[in-house]
Amino acid sequence: MYRCAVIGTTVQAAKCLLPLCAPLPADLWMPSKLRPQVEAIALPVGQAKNCRFYEGALADVLADLWPAQGQFVFAMATGAVVRLIAPLLHHKSTDPAVVVVNPAGTAVISLCGGHQAGADGLTYRVARLLGAEPIITSASQGLGLSGIDLLGQPFSWQKGSGDWTGVSAAIARQAPVQIIQECGTTLWQAALPANHPFQFGWPELARDLETPKVKARVWISPIQRRFAPDAAMPKVQWHPRVLWVGLWCERGTSQGLMDWAIEQAFRQHHLALGAIAGIASLDLKKDEPGLLNLCRDRQWPLRCFSAGRLQPIPVPNPSETVAAAVGTPSVAEAAALLAAYRPILPLESASSDQALTPIELEQLAQTANLRAGKQVFRRAEDPGAVTVAVAQAEQEYIDRPGQLLLVGTGPGDLNQMTAAAKDAIARAQVIIGYGLYLNLISPLLQPGQITEAFPITQEQQRAERAIELAQWGLSVAVISSGDAGIYGMAGLVMETLQQRGWNGKTPTVQVLPGITALQAAAAQVGTPLMHDFCAISLSDLLTPWEVIEQRLQAAAQADFVIALYNPKSKTRTQPFADACRILRQYRAETTPVAIVRSAYRVDQSVTLTTLAELNSHPIDMVTTLLIGNKSSLKHYNWMITPRGYLGFGK
Ligand code: SAH
Repeated sequence: MYRCAVIGTTVQAAKCLLPLCAPLPADLWMPSKLRPQVEAIALPVGQAKNCRFYEGALADVLADLWPAQGQFVFAMATGAVVRLIAPLLHHKSTDPAVVVVNPAGTAVISLCGGHQAGADGLTYRVARLLGAEPIITSASQGLGLSGIDLLGQPFSWQKGSGDWTGVSAAIARQAPVQIIQECGTTLWQAALPANHPFQFGWPELARDLETPKVKARVWISPIQRRFAPDAAMPKVQWHPRVLWVGLWCERGTSQGLMDWAIEQAFRQHHLALGAIAGIASLDLKKDEPGLLNLCRDRQWPLRCFSAGRLQPIPVPNPSETVAAAVGTPSVAEAAALLAAYRPILPLESASSDQALTPIELEQLAQTANLRAGKQVFRRAEDPGAVTVAVAQAEQEYIDRPGQLLLVGTGPGDLNQMTAAAKDAIARAQVIIGYGLYLNLISPLLQPGQITEAFPITQEQQRAERAIELAQWGLSVAVISSGDAGIYGMAGLVMETLQQRGWNGKTPTVQVLPGITALQAAAAQVGTPLMHDFCAISLSDLLTPWEVIEQRLQAAAQADFVIALYNPKSKTRTQPFADACRILRQYRAETTPVAIVRSAYRVDQSVTLTTLAELNSHPIDMVTTLLIGNKSSLKHYNWMITPRGYLGFGK
């Protein structure tokens, strides 16, 4: 990944852009005459190391940076940026992303390279980090769609040949566009808005007359299709990486011969090279120089299996000679089939790639999809020989490590969510959460982002789904209200990862803190948490009541200010009654208590009462209670716990 360059020509611009340097990450480029002023603001925030200073004209500096840098963010007038980049623009397939921030830092414009270079996505990130408005002018965004040329990007699909401009134009006109999907995930379909222009598959004959005639076609397939350049209807093709090439070769076979052999096999079977997930072979080949170079240059993963693992795999063309030589009757076909059966490794076997069980072998045999049986390729001028077979996996290979973003979205109001948490949502390809909380953050969602809502009870399913998708290679945000690590989803995700033998690194995990309910509730009534405090959840679904009771006793006795989470549900009322009884044993009837319901949501309500009257107020599952300590006091409609500065509370 290229680093991003953020560029300004004034001190004001530097102030606006500096907060982007660490999270993007990016280098700040400024004219050298501003060095003292820029360093004066960068040093205290620890960003001096990200500052670069240029001499001479910005146009010349930009010409040097342009080919090496994938993304640019300018804080200057749009007109000035347009003039600066005009001589450098070449084609959207190669130009970098260009984003412009107004000097006040309130608006972020995706200027150029919106789709393929990622400027639209970068615009969302910059906007979330600065608390600014993202301005995106591409036609598809207006329709709530991600571009057709971005469709497969989250899943590492490869863009094939076709009239991409023609198909994009048809979508922009909202003309009917046919989608023929022959392989790859259909997850992207869940992110479509209700009025999308797509028609899936071939219409039945009877309906054909009524459906408006399609104006463009999108193939999602491992097949290589050739479209006539002058065809009336524009067509494009995406290739999900579902094909595993099983390969065997004589020792010392050249990289060129292997490359050629694969191309030949693919041409004969009309398969797209873009659909290649990777190469599979016998572990004897894991140091074969030509093969290693081929995989490096083509960026294909190489998966090598032991003869013991390949030997039991049923194949159409086994060979006794091969079995006698290497201990398995098939290398190319068996390796292709095995890699296709397990396109991603389960967490627990990330280090030890174990042999298949009899049940798994049975499954493999039933689902096996050998697109090309083994074939030997030789070339007169090239010594050596290559055997190639191709198997298709059900799930495509994603060439990135997945990511779990465990995001606390705060109590409700988006203004109470951190910029970093909003940025994490902007980075996520899939967002998983409880439906109500997904609704609360819906203004932050981008076209093409996949959301999966689960009912309130299905926490374990949420965690497992998130891990499954991240293990596959997606960036997955799991959201919790408040802080995700306080009675939230983050703990469950970490626990599940730990149980599955996670290596602590892949998928990567990032926890984004949020304002928890006790802070949100406290802020509504003043400063009740100004001294030692603790949180206790009254939910006995996961914790035995005896444990909760013991903690209540201890906390009450130790004079902690106590925040009660999950106080009472429609059916679970006894714990609350018991908690009140315990608290009264240690605290005066006059102890102030704050009852905060739906803090920072539209239906917020705040009641300040006392321990004596606590029972006479309605309390439910969106309520947090704050019980004062011995010195907490009520002052008009405020609750104050003295820290001790003025001699109280000692
Ligand atoms: N992770 C959340 C807590 C989840 S447990 C956090 O850090 O805030 C659910 C409990 O949190 C609710 O029963 C309620 O006691 C409390 N809660 C969550 N959001 C709240 C809000 N907006 N106002 C008041 N209490 C809230």
